[in-house]
Amino acid sequence: MILVLIDHDRGELDPLSLRALTSARALSSDVHAVVIGKDGAKVATEVGEYGAQVLHVAVNSDLTDYAPMASGRALLQLVNELKPEVVLAAGGPRGNEQLAHLAAFMDLPMAAECTTIKIGNPHEVTRARWAANIFEDALVHSDLLIASVLAFSVEPLQVGGSAEVKEFEVKLEPADTLVKVIGRASESKGGGVSLTDAKVIVSGGRGVGGPEGFGILEELAGLLEGTVGCSRVVTSSGWRPHAEQVGQTGTKVAPDLYLACGISGAMQHIAGCKNSKTIVVINTDPEAPILAYADYAIIGDLHKVIPALTAAVKAARG
Ligand SMILES: Cc1cc2nc3c(=O)[nH]c(=O)nc-3n(C[C@H](O)[C@H](O)[C@H](O)COP(=O)(O)OP(=O)(O)OC[C@H]3O[C@@H](n4cnc5c(N)ncnc54)[C@H](O)[C@@H]3O)c2cc1C
Repeated sequence: MILVLIDHDRGELDPLSLRALTSARALSSDVHAVVIGKDGAKVATEVGEYGAQVLHVAVNSDLTDYAPMASGRALLQLVNELKPEVVLAAGGPRGNEQLAHLAAFMDLPMAAECTTIKIGNPHEVTRARWAANIFEDALVHSDLLIASVLAFSVEPLQVGGSAEVKEFEVKLEPADTLVKVIGRASESKGGGVSLTDAKVIVSGGRGVGGPEGFGILEELAGLLEGTVGCSRVVTSSGWRPHAEQVGQTGTKVAPDLYLACGISGAMQHIAGCKNSKTIVVINTDPEAPILAYADYAIIGDLHKVIPALTAAVKAARG
């Protein structure tokens, strides 16, 4: 049996988890899912449609928002009870962190960001290293395989079933909730579309010049019903919130259109956006590394090019 950790935010499912379910279905038809945290049971319908036969819902009054070690403890309890062959999660920062806690509790290895998995003795995996610039074939010597699936490496496949919901009571240690979300603030300035869901991302780098420069990116993103992203220089400088950072230490995205404005194309940034269907670059430097990934490029000053694009979109729409 394959157990898949489903990530969610108060019942709103992370679409990357559906891809992890699809990976699990490719390994076995016996797929269970587990959800941890407030309102987790709300994902039951979707999880069933994507192939889980059972959704295990962790119950403890301290399991509210994200608390990675507490998740590890809940997983440990369920793994000891169900004895799955494999535990999978989506290979985002949260999936990786929760599985790492499980692996640490069990004193087992964990294979992060896999693109292929073959169950065996030992298990065989291919996993992304160095911001997915290198793919490594590895053997995992343990009965239980704990692995995450590289974001966007699998297309989600709806199989049309339904999941039986089963609750399980979790016993936590006091230390399990030392790290947890204690407050929430809305950070998105891009019109409410999250980076992972957005079909269009207008992303800005150092070339934008400062926080006020993002106004023109927000306007274009709004017109295209998309959202704003950015590079790490931008978040480190405090121009935009970390929730908008694209890349290895930000969010991995795969929109239809990724508009990279004033971004040089460091490998840590490319790791987050290279799955975009179309990449359009606006950069003053014709030698910028990001041009190697561009489907289209406009060599010019973004402060002139973006307003011209916005005006063209408005004109085209009358
Ligand atoms: C461990 C680690 C993890 C990292 N994780 C991430 C990550 O998740 N995401 C990320 O983005 N980075 C990450 N980085 C940082 C990364 O290495 C780069 O430093 C960063 O991506 C560069 O940001 P940038 O492209 O905005 O800035 P720069 O590299 O300074 O590029 C600015 C670009 O803007 C262009 N430009 C300047 N003015 C204009 C203008 N007026 N119009 C048009 N173009 C203009 C320039 O030609 C240049 O190409 C990470 C680094 C490390 C070491």
